[in-house]
Parts: sequence; C-alpha cells; structure tokens
Amino acid sequence: MARPYNFSAGPATMPEAVLQQAAAEMLDWHGTGMGVMEMSHRSTSFAAIAEQAEHDLRTLLAIPEHFKVLFSQGGALAHNAIVPMNLAGRRPERTMDFVVTGSWSQKSAQEAARYGAARIVANTADTGFTTLPDPASWRLSPDASYVHLCSNETIHGVEFHTLPDLAALGSDAPLVIDFSSHVLSRPVDWSRVGLAYGGAQKNIGPAGLTLIVVREDLLGHALPICPSVFDYRALAEAGSMLNTPPTYAIYIAGLTFQWLLAQREGNLSGVAAIEARNVAKAQRLYEAIDGSSLYINRVDPACRSRMNIPFFLRGDDGQPLRDPAHPRNAAFLRGAQARGLVQLKGHKSLGGMRASLYNAMPMAGVEALVDYMRDFERQG
Ligand code: PMP
Repeated sequence: MARPYNFSAGPATMPEAVLQQAAAEMLDWHGTGMGVMEMSHRSTSFAAIAEQAEHDLRTLLAIPEHFKVLFSQGGALAHNAIVPMNLAGRRPERTMDFVVTGSWSQKSAQEAARYGAARIVANTADTGFTTLPDPASWRLSPDASYVHLCSNETIHGVEFHTLPDLAALGSDAPLVIDFSSHVLSRPVDWSRVGLAYGGAQKNIGPAGLTLIVVREDLLGHALPICPSVFDYRALAEAGSMLNTPPTYAIYIAGLTFQWLLAQREGNLSGVAAIEARNVAKAQRLYEAIDGSSLYINRVDPACRSRMNIPFFLRGDDGQPLRDPAHPRNAAFLRGAQARGLVQLKGHKSLGGMRASLYNAMPMAGVEALVDYMRDFERQG
C-alpha cells in the first residue's frame, strides 16, 4: 500500500524507517523475547533505551551539561500549568511575562494566570497573528519569574527565527519557550533559554510524551500545589522515572533521534542537515503560494514558519476563503486526497488550508503538493 503524504499538524507523519524498525522489533527487542511495550521501566533493557534516547537528543540539540532533560507526560497544555507551578515561585510576586503571538501562547498566558500574575508584554492579535513583535518593544516586568513565548505557532504559522536575548533587553528573567511544533527542526540557542517544553507528536514520535529541557538553577521552586510527579526537580533527580514514564513513546523517540543523527545533506549531518532540508521545503511551498494568484499566505515573510504553512484559496472577489465547506475549498481537498495528499484542512479557528512540513516530510511530498496546487489553479 502506498503511503500518502500526510500534512497533519500533529500527530504527524513519521519517518518510514522508524516505523519499519519499530514493526520489526515489536515482538522481540534485541533478542530479549519481548517487545518494548512489555518491559518494566526499571529493567536494564529499558534503562538502556531511555539513556540512549537522552544521549542522542543531547547530541542532536547540543544541550549543555547544566540543563536537565525530562521525559514527562501531559502534553504541552498540561505544562502550560506545570511550568508556572514550577517557576512562578522563583520570586514572591509570582509575576510571569507572556509574549502572545498566536493561539498557543495565548492559551499559555491564560493558564498561567491561575498560578500567579500573568502579564501580556506584547500581543500581535491586532495583525491577526501574522507578525512577531520587536523584542525592543516588549514591556518586560522588572520582577518577572520568567518570560514565556511560543517559538513556533502551529496554527498561525509564525516562527521565531532568532530567540530574543533577554539580558540585552535588561531582563534577568529566564526565557521559557514552547517549542512543540519545531523542536529538532533547527538548532536551539541554549544561551538564551531557561526552559523549553514540547509535546512529542510532531517531530519526535507518539503523543503522550512531553519533553522538558530545563536549566538546573531553575529547579527547586515548585509551588506546594504542584503535583509531586510534575515537580521538575524531583523528576530530574529520579531520571524521569518518578512514576512509570511513557515507555513506548520514549523508545520511538529514541528511534527518531537515531534517524535524525543519520541524516546527511552535503557535508551537514543531524539537525543541521534536516534544517537545510526544512529551509528548502518551506521555500518551495512559499514560492508556489506567492507566485500564484489563487493562493495566499498572509504571514510577514520575516517570521514565516518552516513547519506549519497556513494558506487560503481566494474567492472570486480575491478574498481568502475561510470556510472549509466552500465548494472551491471542498474541491481542493477532494482533489488533494485523490492524489494522496492528506490532512491539508486548516485549523478550525482559522479555516482555509495548512500544510505541516515536519522533519519526516520529504521534499518529494512538497513537490507533489506544489504540482497539485499548480494543476488545481490551472484547471480552475
Ligand atoms: N503548543 C503548541 C505550539 C502546539 O502546537 C500544541 C498542539 N498542537 C500544543 C501546545 C498543545 O499540545 P498538547 O496537545 O500536546 O497538549
């Protein structure tokens, strides 16, 4: 059976080689006579799997020694609460600064307000979340426990191509980033980050695993209401094994990390190689959109996401057609499906279309989409 090109925003397409290996090892992992799903999380076999996964992730993202890697659960939305429960108490005022650049950072701010004083220091809602605010304009609090942003907004398709240098802006607060939807698609400048968190179901593996990378000095400030299993310090001390971790998801993540390490592009390897490919893939699709008179993407080119590309078909009046049930949108999606191009319907809050081009989407998938878009436009 031919696999379709799956443009879902998450859970999302996986490298076929990872799925093949998981299938081959499903009943017998490395001669143990059992599958990974059946192993105790305390077994030496699983300990080896988890250690290798952390080691490979550290290599891929060049995570410094003084950062802890935590394999947690709950998804990014749970950590919208768990992060403030762990960090808001760094200062008695419990002030947290939020940069709102789309639905996900907006949700983060709303959730954090339950645990302290969440202040919106910048907000691009007035541009329809099509821009990023200049960090020099952020009204940062002098006493913030941390500053939060979403480094890639999955729905609106805006991405921070450079993380702000808070110290240069006069703030000594750590930067917290939700990097769910572009983790491992590019390097991370850890000198500018205190904590990064993200769900696995886009570039890492199965839903259910949540990755936290946190600077050691930020641990130890959990509020008394923080559930013990989500106290990041306790989790770090227990090597992410405070309770049963999502073992199978960690195993698949580990296979994905190995796949990433093996990627080559010219003389680049690992994340640098995948980044070069991601740049080329996104460029191909944006050029096709910008070069047509049917399709439109309204995001400022300076902050367009490489991973999630929302676009609209225009109506006869030239305006974007949001309603997925509009006959032109419905015809586009039907035709795409017939060519094996699936999950292109936009997020319900925005309408239109969205193509997610995660690491596992090959250039051939983007080419197939661009070809289809051109044919659809020609045929009307
Ligand atoms: N943040 C971002 C940037 C996301 O893309 C998503 C999911 N699409 C979430 C948070 C929510 O993640 P989860 O469903 O894992 O809680």
